[in-house]
Amino acid sequence: MKKKKVILITSTIITTIIILIVICFIVFNISPYDFYGKDQCPKCKSTNVGTFFYGEYEPEYEDSVTLAKVKEGVLIPGGCVINHESPKYRCNDCFFTWGKELIKP
Ligand SMILES: [Zn+2]
Repeated sequence: MKKKKVILITSTIITTIIILIVICFIVFNISPYDFYGKDQCPKCKSTNVGTFFYGEYEPEYEDSVTLAKVKEGVLIPGGCVINHESPKYRCNDCFFTWGKELIKP
């Protein structure tokens, strides 16, 4: 009888934790892909990954190093506006975007 009670309490706690995690993911619009780094695309496993940068971007005034990186796809201009939807990385092969710019791991 006692063992059954322990199992019931444990499963209730685990279920509650899972529900709380799911609510957090929905509220903050987090997808499991957001925990991936820039080393590899979480979808197609390509290593050809670019990093978004935010802020003003005027190609004619940028230095040649930045321009070259933009051309190579290493850096991607993300625009001036940054919000919770702003992605951090983009795969240059399948164009999948992931990571949240505002979430610092
Ligand atoms: Zn990809």
